[in-house]
Amino acid sequence: MSNRLRSSPQVLSVLAYSAKSGRCRLSKVGAGRRPPPARVRVAVRLRPFVDGAAGTSEPPCVRGIDSCSLEVANWRNYQETLKYQFDAFYGERSSQQDIYAGSVQPILRHLLEGQNASVLAYGPTGAGKTHTMLGSPEQPGVIPRALMDLLQLTREEGAEGRPWNLSVTMSYLEIYQEKVLDLLDPASGDLVIREDCRGNILIPGLTQKPITSFSDFERHFLPASGNRTVGATRLNQRSSRSHAVLLVKVDQQERLAPFRQREGKLYLIDLAGSEDNRRTGNQGLRLKESGAINTSLFVLGKVVDALNQGLPRVPYRDSKLTRLLQDSLGGSAHSILIANIAPERRFYLDTVSALNFAARSKEVINRPFTNESLQPPALAPVKLSQKELGPSEAKRARGPEEEDIGNPESVGAPVPATQKLSPLQKLSNMDPAMLERLLSLDRLLGSQGSQGTPLLNTPKRERMVLIKTVEEKNLEIERLKMKQKELEAKMLAQEAVDPKKENCSPTVLRPLSRRTVTVAEPLKKAVVMPLQLIQEQTASPNTEIHILKKRGLKRKLDSSDVSEPVEKAEDCWELHVSPELLAHGRQKILNLLNEGSARDLRSLQRIGQKKAQLIVGWRELHGPFSQVEDLERVEGISAKQLESFLKVSLAMLLLS
Ligand code: ADP
Ligand code: MG
Repeated sequence: MSNRLRSSPQVLSVLAYSAKSGRCRLSKVGAGRRPPPARVRVAVRLRPFVDGAAGTSEPPCVRGIDSCSLEVANWRNYQETLKYQFDAFYGERSSQQDIYAGSVQPILRHLLEGQNASVLAYGPTGAGKTHTMLGSPEQPGVIPRALMDLLQLTREEGAEGRPWNLSVTMSYLEIYQEKVLDLLDPASGDLVIREDCRGNILIPGLTQKPITSFSDFERHFLPASGNRTVGATRLNQRSSRSHAVLLVKVDQQERLAPFRQREGKLYLIDLAGSEDNRRTGNQGLRLKESGAINTSLFVLGKVVDALNQGLPRVPYRDSKLTRLLQDSLGGSAHSILIANIAPERRFYLDTVSALNFAARSKEVINRPFTNESLQPPALAPVKLSQKELGPSEAKRARGPEEEDIGNPESVGAPVPATQKLSPLQKLSNMDPAMLERLLSLDRLLGSQGSQGTPLLNTPKRERMVLIKTVEEKNLEIERLKMKQKELEAKMLAQEAVDPKKENCSPTVLRPLSRRTVTVAEPLKKAVVMPLQLIQEQTASPNTEIHILKKRGLKRKLDSSDVSEPVEKAEDCWELHVSPELLAHGRQKILNLLNEGSARDLRSLQRIGQKKAQLIVGWRELHGPFSQVEDLERVEGISAKQLESFLKVSLAMLLLS
């Protein structure tokens, strides 16, 4: 990279791009609206085979599936591939414009809302990070495209007559061996990173150059890149050992009261190579460098994980890189990580490790390998310790029989065809007492904040709770059945002793044997005889009133029901009510109608807020009701409603 930079194709690319007429368009969408919290987005870019790569006829070890997923051959089993899914996948034929427009351009508008954003290119050396970020004269990358668009956008938004005045500044630094070096002022030495009282990250002493045009940007950026190149010559590939960070700040001042101010920061970062330097046999300075690089990349991984998992503590302070990105990575900031990977077999392990880094909190699924040409026959199975593998890799290395029962990934993953036995079958055969003990043990561990693997994962646990509930319900049903039998026997015995007693009592329940055997709670609604019948029977004081309670609530009784109530409804039971009681009920309703407040009236069946107010209003106008039937005179209460009201209210009063 250093040599390339010295001969400056990337630097030229910036110049070339400025001369290009076809500029990317960017519109300010949704400005002023507060964007929702954003998670770190992950895109993967697979570069094509590059000229001169050893064995260009070799098949690639990575293959794209669709615009979000790809698969890579599994070194442990050539019959399998590892499938990865991301927010976006860009294949070897994708253009610089595809990546920019698909993943970077959409986040730029947030800068004008005072939000922060960051774009990080990640991946092993030679996988295309610098190509993605800086590009070439023919194919300008993310940095020139973003700068061009951002400057254009700020010019438009900050024009005379617009509410905000906008200004843009740039800083350019590199983090090398955990030192922050100002590339716009190389003499300044290691800079410190600070946080102000509002949580903004600052680097006191870092050069900030105002830029108003793309040529301004080039004027500062080109010599600064040269500074990095000088270092690379001296330190042999230093540029691939350091993180290059371009910071673009957009400041906004409101032109009118209340004169608000906003600041949006954009970090464009070409990260150091993520290759595992332990495998490259580095020694001395290179080993020290790799240690520092691994530290910051390792912490970056932890930060991305913590953000994706919503953990309360995000370890920003554990490295300079993540400390610098603290206010631009996660939270309401908009961050995109572009993992660059290469198709050549020699990159295989770095590719898998880069993909695992990018996908640590995402779905990773094994799929049968279908394309024979993807099998890497020359790739010797390398023995890696599980420590060197990502968690999902390590899981696969252990095999399905050792699948973590507490791992939520295993819940979402498709069940292999071989795994036919349902865990429910085993559990349902389990002794309920054993289930209970397991559940209480699990609860105990949970209450003690056990960090270990839970005894029961969520679906199993739910099933066990369900089985236990069913078991308890069955026992309850048995118990109720027994109780009911006892009661029936008792009632029959009583009837046998005094069969006439039934008619003497004003309210007598018929023997329980007439009821269908059920353990369900009796329903509270009742079906009452038609009003006419009640009135007729009221006229003859010696006639008893029948109130039938049925399980079917909505069914109405016709006159034949009344004549033969018991025969028609086997599952009914009836109440015998004396006319005095009925008259008493009607009087109670009448009193309530005449004296009750709107709220009291609502305690009556079928009387809602509106009707209650109508009744009170009528009473105030016309004086007290002389009989309940006067209700029909209230506006909004029809004869039919009155009938239904009387039936239900009387029934409820008498039953209560
Ligand atoms: P890195 O910065 O990750 O070390 P580079 O960006 O320097 O990798 O890429 C290594 C080589 O591959 C360079 O010659 C670059 O031009 C080429 N290259 C990378 N990505 C692409 C791509 N998408 N299309 C064409 N060439 C690419
Ligand atoms: Mg590079």
